[in-house]
This record gives sequence, C-alpha cells and structure tokens, in this order.
Amino acid sequence: MYHHIKKLMYTVNVGTPDVKFGKLLLEQFGGANGELAAAMQYTVQGWNCVDDLARRDLLLDIGTEELSHLEVVGALIRMHLKHLKTDREAADADPLVTIAGGGGVNLYNSAGNPWTADYLKITGELDVDLRSNIAAESRAKIVYERLIDHTDDPGSIDTLQFLMTREITHLKAFTAALESMEKPPFSIGCLKPTPGIVDQYFNASTGDGDEGETDMRGPWQTSFGLHPVDSTMNGGTGLSIGDIHGTEGKEERGKQDNAPKAKTSPFAESLSQTQPSTNKPGLNEASSTNGNHKKAQTAKV
Ligand code: MN
Ligand code: MN
Repeated sequence: MYHHIKKLMYTVNVGTPDVKFGKLLLEQFGGANGELAAAMQYTVQGWNCVDDLARRDLLLDIGTEELSHLEVVGALIRMHLKHLKTDREAADADPLVTIAGGGGVNLYNSAGNPWTADYLKITGELDVDLRSNIAAESRAKIVYERLIDHTDDPGSIDTLQFLMTREITHLKAFTAALESMEKPPFSIGCLKPTPGIVDQYFNASTGDGDEGETDMRGPWQTSFGLHPVDSTMNGGTGLSIGDIHGTEGKEERGKQDNAPKAKTSPFAESLSQTQPSTNKPGLNEASSTNGNHKKAQTAKV
C-alpha cells in the first residue's frame, strides 16, 4: 500500500532557471541510472524477496525513498524547464518536452529516449541483486557528481548534493546487507565452477609496445588462485580449453558448491526480541510493514 504526503523530501530552490541544464537533469528522472529505475528495481526486488523478510524490508525502504527522490528531482527539473512553453529560444533546448510534453517532466532521459524496464536488474537471487544495487548506487552517485559540475546555481547544487549523498547512504546499506549474508565473495548460485578453468587468467590481449601498447601485469592475474595463461602465439600453452576436460562428465557438471549458502536472516527469532510489544508475534506481509526500527537488529545473523 502506498500513501502520498504532499511534501517534498528535500526543499528545492532554483535561483536562475536554465532549460539546457533541466534537460541534462532528465537523465536522473527517466534515465538508466535515474530515480525511477532505482525505485522500481529495489521495490520489485523487494516484492520478490519472500525468503528474507529483513532484507525485503531494506529493499522496500530504499525503493520507496527513491520514489521520493524522483519527486524531488522532478520538481527541480520543472523549475528549470518552466520557460520552455513561453520562450521560443528556450524551447529549442528540448522540443520534445516543449511540444509533446507541454514543458513538464516525462519519463525520458536527457537524450529524449523513453524510460524502459530494460534498465532494471532483477534476478530473484538476493545476493546477486544486492551486487547490482551496489553498482547502481555507484552509477547514480557519479551521474549526480557530473550534473553538479554543470551548474553554478547554488539552489540546484544544494538539491543535487542531497540526492548524491543519499546514494552513498544506500551504497553503505546494500553493502552491509550483502556482507551480513556471509556468502563467500565468489560463491554465486549453487553449482561449482569447473576446476582448473576457473583459475586460468587468459592473457588474451598482448602487445609488443611499438606504439605504447605493452602487455601489462597486475594482481588480477595472480590473486584468488588465478594464474596467467599465455597464447601459443606468445610462447604459452594456449588459451584453448579443449584439453581441460573440466566438464566432460555429467557428474562434474552438476556438482554443488560446498561453500555455505546464502544465509537468510533468522527473521522470526530476531523480531521477537526487537519488535514493539504492540505487534503480534506472528509474521506475515502485513505485519512486516510495521515498526521501522527492527531492521538493524534483524540484519545480524
Ligand atoms: Mn536516489
Ligand atoms: Mn539510491
């Protein structure tokens, strides 16, 4: 259930409207890393997350906050675009918004491309989704940073600074949620990777340095059990996997990863310790929406 409160999450002030900057800002309204994409990604992930009610609550908390961000950035954009309808020169900055949209915001990015659900990363695997969210917050942060670099309007910078800051807050929360699942970092899903192949770093791009392109070395070739393998063209054993036999038999293919599986939080037990006494001990979707302060405790495993 959703309820709208007629109040912005953050007060928006614009000193000097700038229609061209307003068009840039559309990237965070209807763009790939924008607020609607974030709101939909986390919210729908949360609705899917029925096995871990604590992290479901996290996803719904942040997804809902992102919708409030959408409202804030929408208000900021509208203030910048307000001259579009009446000023012919300003209208040139965004004909789509002016002619088709009447000067208001719509779900397009800064280049006029329509918002699409293809922006969303929703896998139904909680730890994988959290990794996507950590990356999404990083992208949103850098987009806000670039937007701040393209305006001198103090009010706009103030609002964008707030929105940028909240992305780092979310980055922290998603990181803590992933880490507290205590899954080994390279254990994704259940099936084991093929032994041997998994540790081969193929040195597939090489150069002799004639034009400055040299073959570089780094810890990415030798960490976590990795070792470099060179092409026969480079005097190595070759990048072909034909002689590895890692997946030759069915019995090898179906092997399960022995690493501990993703832990879901012991929601019921934790809740009974931290839940306000007015709440019923029984858990269902309706009761999980009550009581904001239970999250931190239930995230502990
Ligand atoms: Mn946001
Ligand atoms: Mn965010």
